[in-house]
Parts: sequence; structure tokens; C-alpha cells
Amino acid sequence: MPITLSTSQSDFDARFEEMLSAKREDSVDVSEVVAKIIADVGDRGDVALTELTARFDRLELTPDRLAFSPEEVDAEIAKVSPEDRAALVLAAERIRAYHARQMPEDVFWTDPDGASLGWRWTPVSAAGLYVPGGLASYPSSVLMNAIPARVAGVERLVVCVPTPDGVVNPLVLLACRIAGVDEIYRIGGAQAIAALAYGTDTIRKVDKITGPGNAYVAAAKRQVFGRVGIDMIAGPSEVLVIAEGDQNPEWLALDLMAQAEHDADAQAILVTPDAGLAARVVAEVEALLPRLPRSAIAGASWRDYGTVILTRDLDEAAAISDRVAPEHLELCVTDPQALLQKVRHAGAIFLGGWTPEAVGDYVSGPNHVLPTARSARFSSGLSTLDFLKRTTLAQLTPGALAAIGPAAVRLATSEGLDAHGLSVSARLRTLNEDGK
Ligand code: NAD
Repeated sequence: MPITLSTSQSDFDARFEEMLSAKREDSVDVSEVVAKIIADVGDRGDVALTELTARFDRLELTPDRLAFSPEEVDAEIAKVSPEDRAALVLAAERIRAYHARQMPEDVFWTDPDGASLGWRWTPVSAAGLYVPGGLASYPSSVLMNAIPARVAGVERLVVCVPTPDGVVNPLVLLACRIAGVDEIYRIGGAQAIAALAYGTDTIRKVDKITGPGNAYVAAAKRQVFGRVGIDMIAGPSEVLVIAEGDQNPEWLALDLMAQAEHDADAQAILVTPDAGLAARVVAEVEALLPRLPRSAIAGASWRDYGTVILTRDLDEAAAISDRVAPEHLELCVTDPQALLQKVRHAGAIFLGGWTPEAVGDYVSGPNHVLPTARSARFSSGLSTLDFLKRTTLAQLTPGALAAIGPAAVRLATSEGLDAHGLSVSARLRTLNEDGK
């Protein structure tokens, strides 16, 4: 049974906070294990990578076999059916079209003082794209990481994907080919993140690491941030569904289980003002679970983290959702556009009963690498912008320096930074001498 809360309970706030803080991915245990793995890869490079891959993925490798060779990729891709290939190509085209629209423009203008100012966007040189592969395989995550990077103009794209027992989904490799990935390594977890951040003899380090993963991957990204850039903490998946009484309970149950089946640490939350609907959805989930091939994972997630919250009305449901700041938010209501105006914090929002979150995982176009664990309060899903840096530009004429330079001299003097002031005043003196 899921956790069941009602905003009319007197202890609702305490129980709601307890439910929120029960999330798992930044546990001390995981952080300590990850810190050791990162230090090990930093010290022993490829040797540590092969040992850790044997331990966690049951795959014996030598350093020369860390990367997939082009021949191996060809052989795996040949196994993909035409139907699967067509679906992947459709997804890639839609994702590319969406992310092309995110490409920002450079800006340069001249202000009334004569200063020309602006900014310019340039891509990072090398990006490491983490593609999860422990419990499920994610060809879609290859596209979601690599396509925005390519759109942004990144030169070197490196994918790391664990292949437990040496098994790889050929679609993962086909997705790498379609998206133009340059290097593919069969490593995962914290060791893959460490290799991308520190580099080894075999794997050159990158400038930015993106992509989702389990608690170990999320903790590792946190720990290497600063040495490299990261996109966000995209950890175990979450969905929050706000639903009105007239919605189809079976569809809602399926949407909740679509997240729960990712990971026992995933979280599915239903928020509704209609107690009858809540009971019907819970019954549908109970009926559905035994039929799901991944029922053990989905069942554990639903039992430990699944939550049903009864609210007084939809406005209160929107306020509850903002406190969760979910990765995915479904608005299964008659007027989703109206409810959209009342929510602010979510990674991705799906409007109306005909927009299941699962379509966003694959083919709608927006990115499925999204902030989890309440970080949608301050961060956004992966986008073309994550692979770009913004550099500011300024060019002053003598007249512009004469207009704004004296204020800079004053501020430099007040900060006690004499050389700063002199570098401006020396130029101003020349202007005065020249009578310009
Ligand atoms: P994964 O590739 O993230 O993790 C597998 C790796 O975890 C293994 O290779 C191993 O190195 C490491 N690991 C496992 N147990 C360990 C242990 N005890 N100690 C140290 N390392 C250990 O694949 P996964 O496990 O299938 O997890 C994928 C995750 O990604 C799920 O939580 C899913 O919900 C999430 N996900 C999130 C998004 C998003 O956008 N937020 C998208 C897709 C998937």
C-alpha cells in the first residue's frame, strides 16, 4: 500500500515533510562508497576501472576492451529490426527539431554611452554522456544526451554505458551512431563518472558530464562537480500526477507504474481532491502490479515511496506539487492550461489526459533528462544550453571610456585596488592630454 495523506489531517505538514525527506539518493552510505571509487579511479586509472566493472557489472575487461570497437558496433546494430530502427529515427528527428529551437543567439549592441556590449555562446569541447544500464537499458537517453550536444556544436562526444554480464542493447549502440557519438565505453556507475572527470590512459577526460543514473551516478556527479561541469542531479525518477475525478483510473495507475518500474528508489505520487478516484487508482495499481514483468521493482517503489495525497481542491493540489517540485508533473484535469498557471516547480509538465509522461520519455521532443529530488526548484531539464557557455563581450570607444571610466576609478579607489584605478585613469589622462 502507498503512503496515504490528506491535507485535512492535523499532522499533515509533518507527515508530508517526512515523506519528502525519505528520499534516498544522497544518503551518507552512497556518498562514502562513491568517494572511495572516485579516489581509486583517480589513483589507479584503467586498472581500477576494469576491477570495478568486474565487481559491479560482472564483466571481465582489459583496458583495450573498455571501448566498443567500430566493428562491434556494426555487428550489434545489424541485429536491430527495421521497425525499431524507424522508431529510433523518428525519436531522433523530433528531439533534434525541439533542441534546435533552443539554440540561443549571440547579442551585441551599443548603449547610449558608446559602449558596445553583448555575449556570445560557444560549445564545450568534449562532453561525457552517461547512459544508465544497470537495471534497464536506455537507447532513448543516448538521444536525449547526444542530440542537444551535437546541436550545440560539441566536438567530442563520449558515452559511458554499463553492460552488466557483457550484455548490451543493440539499440543503445544504434542510437549512438544516429546521434554521432565518437567514443563508447562499456563502464558505468561512479567509476564511469570518475573516468570522465579525471581521465585515464584509455579515456581522455571531458569538460562536462551529463545524463541520468542511479544513486551512485548522482552522488558521483555531485562529487566531481568543479573539476568538470555537470548538468544537474538526475537521479531516481519521480512522477506527480494531479487528477480530477473524471479521469481514467487505469491510465493513471499505468502512468504511476511507468515511473515506479524504473527503480525501487523511484517515486510515484497521486494528488487529487477526489477520494473515490484515489481508491480506484490504488485498486488499479494493485491489479496491475502482478502483471508487470518488472513487478518486483515497481512494487517495491510503490510500497516504500508511492504516495496518495487527498487535497481540498485543485488549487491546493497545485501548491502541494510545488512543494514536491517533481521531475515529471502530469496535469490530468479538464482544463490543464488553467492549472498550469498555478504551478511553478517541475522538470517537465504534461498537459491533459492524452499526454502520458511516457511519450515524453521517447518521442515528444523535450528532453527526458530532468532534475530529481526536489532540485526542479532551482534547475531545469537537459537542453542545448547545457552544452554551451556564455562569454560576455565589451568594447569601449575613447568617448565611452571618458563617460563611464571616472566611476570605475572611484569604485576601485574605494576598494583599495590601486592598479585597477590606475589602469583606467592612465587612459583617461591620455584622453585629456590629447584633448579628445
Ligand atoms: P545505472 O547505469 O545508473 O547504474 C548501474 C551502475 O551502478 C553499475 O554499473 C554500478 O557501477 C553501480 N552500482 C550498482 N550497485 C552498486 C553498489 N552497491 N556500489 C557501487 N556501485 C554500484 O543504471 P540503473 O541502476 O538501471 O539506474 C538507472 C537510474 O536512472 C534509475 O534510477 C532511473 O530511475 C534513472 N533515470 C533517471 C532519468 C532522469 O532523467 N532523471 C532518466 C532515465 C533513468
